[in-house]
Amino acid sequence: MKIDLRSDTVTKPTKGMLQAIMEAEVGDDVYKEDPTVNKLENYVAELFGMDEALFFPTGSMANQAAIKLHTQPAEQLICDKWAHVFNYEGGGASFNSGVSCKLVDGDRGMITAAQVEENINPPDFYHSPLTTLVCLENTTNKGGGACYDFEEIKKIRKVCDKHNLGLHLDGARLMNAIVAKKENPKDYGEVFDTLTICLSKGMGTPLGTLLLGKKELMKNAMRVRKVLGGGMRQIGFMAAAGLYAFENHIERLAEDHKKASEIAKTLKKQSYVSEVEPTETNIVIFYLKEGFSEEKFMEDLQNQDIIISNMGQGKLRVVTHLDYTDAMHERFLEVLRQYK
Ligand SMILES: *Cc1c(COP(=O)(O)O)cnc(C)c1O
Repeated sequence: MKIDLRSDTVTKPTKGMLQAIMEAEVGDDVYKEDPTVNKLENYVAELFGMDEALFFPTGSMANQAAIKLHTQPAEQLICDKWAHVFNYEGGGASFNSGVSCKLVDGDRGMITAAQVEENINPPDFYHSPLTTLVCLENTTNKGGGACYDFEEIKKIRKVCDKHNLGLHLDGARLMNAIVAKKENPKDYGEVFDTLTICLSKGMGTPLGTLLLGKKELMKNAMRVRKVLGGGMRQIGFMAAAGLYAFENHIERLAEDHKKASEIAKTLKKQSYVSEVEPTETNIVIFYLKEGFSEEKFMEDLQNQDIIISNMGQGKLRVVTHLDYTDAMHERFLEVLRQYK
């Protein structure tokens, strides 16, 4: 039994999802004639109470398109120092939109309204880049799946309104946050100008991310997606997987969260673990005590057919997901308990 806990992107489509893919009605989406893509976009826009949704192949492309829709070259966006849009999209913000990022020293990938306000450049001081956008991430990836307090998001919205800034959410794992905190998707649709949701993380599809936004901003979204090379043809096969995931793989995210918290609890009791970060969703980040090497630990796990991630700076990461079964969970916990 091979146990892959590196990421929630390692899942394979379930039988039901494959069936939905096989039966999808498709057309040429570049002509906007794929009925299944249109159905998915309408479904998700409605779920969040957003004007429009557009299907993208990847989360990075959808975030990059959002940044382009909000900004002009030489402007600046504000984000946490660990933000995916800054760290893991290949420098795309500067390449695609010509903008710089003002990095905020947040808490587990989350920033506050006060920090946003402090980091806005004075708009009439023409020497510094004009601040025009704030990007949040929920849940945070490098922050260990941490979830924002929605009240803080509302405060950030107020700061954005006061200073005329756009507000984008990188919601690669937004459904994890919504399930964990029992939130209403429509509240997110109301507070953000644009947001992205990945279908290929906890939701378990082979690919796909939706970009949602207000009509005024989204009117150029198809053009920007085209420029980035993201116009797709009979992509309804993948949209069908997305619709299937919305119907079948949302509530079950709570199971991933439960398993992650059990892993965190077990790790805390082990003598070789120095610290486990708060575990709110499906990501567990932990550190080994001095004298234990991360490389050796990972190698020992690998010898037992278990793979996890090393995020550097002593951070080890485990991510639970759809293909991580109860039997794998039992075995992994046992291996952690036995390790010396
Ligand atoms: C995975 C992820 C994305 C999108 O990544 P792609 O691999 O391009 O789909 C964006 N933001 C966060 C926080 C992520 O974890």
